[in-house]
Amino acid sequence: MAIPLRKPRDIEALRKANRIVAETLQLLRERAVEGASLRELDSMAEAYIRSKGGRPSFKGLYNFPSSVCTSVNEVIIHGVPSEYTLKNGDIVGFDVGVELDGWFGDSAITVGVGEISKADRELIACAEDTLYYAISIIKDGMRFKELSYKIEQFIRARGFVPLANYCGHGIGRKPHEEPEILNYLEAGSPKSGPKIKNGMVFCIEPMICRSDMNSDVLGDKWSVVSKDGQKGSHYEHTVAVINGKAEILSQL
Ligand code: MG
Ligand code: MG
Repeated sequence: MAIPLRKPRDIEALRKANRIVAETLQLLRERAVEGASLRELDSMAEAYIRSKGGRPSFKGLYNFPSSVCTSVNEVIIHGVPSEYTLKNGDIVGFDVGVELDGWFGDSAITVGVGEISKADRELIACAEDTLYYAISIIKDGMRFKELSYKIEQFIRARGFVPLANYCGHGIGRKPHEEPEILNYLEAGSPKSGPKIKNGMVFCIEPMICRSDMNSDVLGDKWSVVSKDGQKGSHYEHTVAVINGKAEILSQL
């Protein structure tokens, strides 16, 4: 189960796929206004991805029916675009995956619609800040478990908890590759397990719950909610380890 080390030209190919992801998320962020329907946002995103020569890689992945995961309020991840129209005060997560020339990109954001509460701003900030904190501490030679442990400490210091049983992941020629990168230390010492090395490409994706890590999947067989029934948040980037540090590929 060796984790692939990518050559510079492979990382450039991954950067191109991820650039389309970042552009699509930028469009979704702009269009996530009161009255926008999730299905229309999904169609708009798919059209944009295809106009750039990419393929929406979530469509059909494990039989997911749409191009974008749209996760509203209590849904933390894997929400399916429906006829629902966004309301003032909603928070919505967008998760986008793209395949371009056989390489994959993946990134996610959570945004507020109109005026949102202070509590919801803090919830979203926890996911975003955890993501950038994690990226800032990644270095060649660090263990993935140590990264997971530090992510968990950061989330808990903010008064939130990580979602259990869902994780970040390697990415490259497939949308999900080894290793699994949990947002918490599941078992064992942070000083055990595989090391992060130059050339690795993976997704870091903090998924934040208010009080209960444990989750249920709703009747649509996709939407993941915390057992606490409260809102959640999610942010994600694809990063490459270059010259000992993490560089974000999924940004403009
Ligand atoms: Mg994703
Ligand atoms: Mg991912």
